[in-house]
Amino acid sequence: MPESKTSELKVLWLEFTEKISETLPEQSFRTWIQPIRPESLDDNTLTLYVPSQFHYEWVDSHYSQKIRGVFGQLIGREIRLSFKVDSTDGDHPDHHVPAPQSKQRSNTRRSPKPQDVQLNSRYAFDNFVEGDGNSFARAACLAIAEAPGKTPWNPLLIYGGTGLGKTHLLQAIGNHVLKEKKVSRVKYVSSERYTQEFIHSVKNNCSTDFSKLYRSAEFLLVDDVQFFSSKGRTQIEFFHTFNSLYQAGKQIILSCDRPVHELKDIDERLISRFQSGLITQISPPDFETRVAILERRADEEGVALPLDIAQFFATHIKNNIRELEGALVTLIARATFYRLEPNLELAGQVLQEKMGRPVGKPQIEQIQEVVAKHFQLSGDALRGKSRKKEIALARMMAMSLATKLTDHSLKHIGQLFGGRDHSTVIHARNTIHKLIEKDALMRDTYESLRHKLSLSTLPSTKM
Ligand code: ADP
Ligand code: MG
Repeated sequence: MPESKTSELKVLWLEFTEKISETLPEQSFRTWIQPIRPESLDDNTLTLYVPSQFHYEWVDSHYSQKIRGVFGQLIGREIRLSFKVDSTDGDHPDHHVPAPQSKQRSNTRRSPKPQDVQLNSRYAFDNFVEGDGNSFARAACLAIAEAPGKTPWNPLLIYGGTGLGKTHLLQAIGNHVLKEKKVSRVKYVSSERYTQEFIHSVKNNCSTDFSKLYRSAEFLLVDDVQFFSSKGRTQIEFFHTFNSLYQAGKQIILSCDRPVHELKDIDERLISRFQSGLITQISPPDFETRVAILERRADEEGVALPLDIAQFFATHIKNNIRELEGALVTLIARATFYRLEPNLELAGQVLQEKMGRPVGKPQIEQIQEVVAKHFQLSGDALRGKSRKKEIALARMMAMSLATKLTDHSLKHIGQLFGGRDHSTVIHARNTIHKLIEKDALMRDTYESLRHKLSLSTLPSTKM
């Protein structure tokens, strides 16, 4: 396929995954759709790589209609799907699966091989940005990845809200130990997938193979154990696998979206196993980390990301890195589509769609505009370099109001005022405070601006 067609398809696929993710439970999306890669789109056939035969069968029977619907809508015509199994997570399909509906399908069924590791090479320690909320978890994962079996942390359990990097860390460990050849039999699985595979194996009379497969792992990574909830039989199976691996000194790493004691409908014995090693938490990243993550991601996509856009997204999306990245990916797809450079206006539209309601400019920009107008200046003047007296005064006023009315750090505020230092912001705030204590006119001005800004509701501001 020519290069341009491939990148066009890549962009379409990005848009597609964004769209379909909104219509599926997050876990289903992560487990079944995200691992799929597009190969080609010829006439009306979209060819997709899936990581295993089992994956193919599942997607074919549960999601193909949906995929055809959403993708078809995107390109404005009906399509057929064709799948290829690619267990190498990359460029070398090793096995072609006939198009869906084909009867041959059952002849091509293979028992899952240990190579079906379900690892995505995109997740690495290198591209995991360290911040306050994750540094301990990251350090523990890295230590285990570098010296498997030599740390006392078994199992390691990482818990934290959704979209904060648990899967990334688990996968990074798996990729690292495989790459460094520390161990060879690595198994990564989400508890949802584990459950499905188990049910499938029971139905097909091969549950012994299933048990063997997992019990032969040297490294077992189980993502999102909360989905074991209420799956009694699967829990028993997993309990035995856990014990067997643990007793043989194999490393087990688990993730969970909540503290273990909040898990419901999971056998006490399993809970106590989960709690028996090291437990570490991941919490939401601070502003600087969010910006750094966006910059890193843009780099990966080979796109120049202006700082104001990174800060804009980081200001509005705080608790979920997946959403943060989702906004960026949509912006990139959109900009590519319209052949534009990413800009703040486009970013505003993307965010507005994501949030399902209008979103205003970044608060600080709004403060700048309102204050500038009051002093009959432009917002640009406040962000610019001029030290003229009335501009400097208006700028200090706006900075001081920004510290009062927003929850941005001094550093961030300074940055949005033309890249100034946080000490400049402190100075501005102190100066204004002194002025309004002494000068009644100044106090009135400050209060009326503050009042105006508190009343103006951000969401209705036009971009
Ligand atoms: P979780 O499993 O906790 O729901 P993920 O690991 O899937 O979250 O993370 C969501 C997205 O955010 C992924 O694309 C991941 O690569 C990215 N991400 C999360 N944390 C970081 C980080 N610290 N540095 C870089 N990317 C991150
Ligand atoms: Mg996850």
